[in-house]
Amino acid sequence: MEHVYLDHNATTPLDEKVLAAMMPYLRDRYGNASSRHEFGTVARKAVDVAREQVAAIVGVRPAQVIFVSGGTEANNLFVKGAAGYLKPTQVAVSAIEHPCVAKPAQELARAGWKLRKLAVDRDGRIDLSDVEEALKEPTGIVSVMLANNETGVIQDVAAVAERARRAGARMHTDAVQALGKIPVSFGALNVHAMTLSAHKIYGPKGAGALVVDKRLELRPVISGGGHEQGLRSGTENVPAIVGFGAACELAAGRLANLAPALAALRARLERALHELGAVIFGERAERIPNTSYFVFPGIDGETLVIEVDKAGYAVASGAACSSASTEPSATLLAMGVAPEVARGAVRVSCGMATTAEQVEGFLGALSGAVYRLRRLTAVAV
Ligand code: PLP
Repeated sequence: MEHVYLDHNATTPLDEKVLAAMMPYLRDRYGNASSRHEFGTVARKAVDVAREQVAAIVGVRPAQVIFVSGGTEANNLFVKGAAGYLKPTQVAVSAIEHPCVAKPAQELARAGWKLRKLAVDRDGRIDLSDVEEALKEPTGIVSVMLANNETGVIQDVAAVAERARRAGARMHTDAVQALGKIPVSFGALNVHAMTLSAHKIYGPKGAGALVVDKRLELRPVISGGGHEQGLRSGTENVPAIVGFGAACELAAGRLANLAPALAALRARLERALHELGAVIFGERAERIPNTSYFVFPGIDGETLVIEVDKAGYAVASGAACSSASTEPSATLLAMGVAPEVARGAVRVSCGMATTAEQVEGFLGALSGAVYRLRRLTAVAV
């Protein structure tokens, strides 16, 4: 039996069309985009086209796109890069950021910055009154993600940005999980910088971008030959950048149809989850349409994930990026979920190829596993 993939927030399969766009640059068009000869010119033109495609999906000018190796690097570049031009004051990041924002912010704290974690409510939404409270302190850097990778909850980034700008801070959003699932506009969010990643939108792994306001001063994290306007040295990964550009163009083209289709699948999934007795996190908040994060009280998340995997369905427990650890999710703890409840968390994230039959099949496997595990728990008690 074919395994069914329901973990698209961890990564997505490479779109065949993206692969086709990349192939020439993996084979004959191998020039270094910095070379002056024909091979180099061909590569440079391909990077230019990709820059236009990435810029278009978030509504900026191509020169605002800094290509990097992915979301992790873009987040590091913003946090550390912005700090490089500022005297240490406060760095305020939401309590539910991905570790690649949270940890660079902790590093700033070790370098004399004051780290402030911005609170979220029980539904996983940023608490604007806490933002206002935090911004009473002199603040250089604010970062709030657009959509959370675990709950899928969408944050009111524009409202935070308005307050951050008023306080004179540099405002960043990690839009990795939002891109391709909801419309994302750099201008409407009013941020100074935004992080994107290719592999969450059916592009290749190892490509991403920091989109910047041209007036934002950043110190590079990786220096060398001066590529990407001096902000990210290193020979451009032309095939991956080409794939990222193609993936953005395809994502923009399918969004209007994909979002409602995903929402319908999730509605079906969540109706059944309620019937089975699940508690769904962030349910009352606005969420990206593909994500469902839930717990069956008393059932361990890891165990449930292993059980449904045996039945042929790949889903995630807790945060995908920290699946090697058994710590309860920091996002859920920030939402006020008790650690013993958080340990039960399971995430299903559908993608563009997910079908209603697959969701039905998954529900069958899940209800079987929940039934068996409940019986086991009942016997153990
Ligand atoms: N930010 C968020 C919200 C993510 O979900 C992830 C990946 O899981 C990243 C950043 C890291 O992106 P990348 O895998 O491209 O380094």
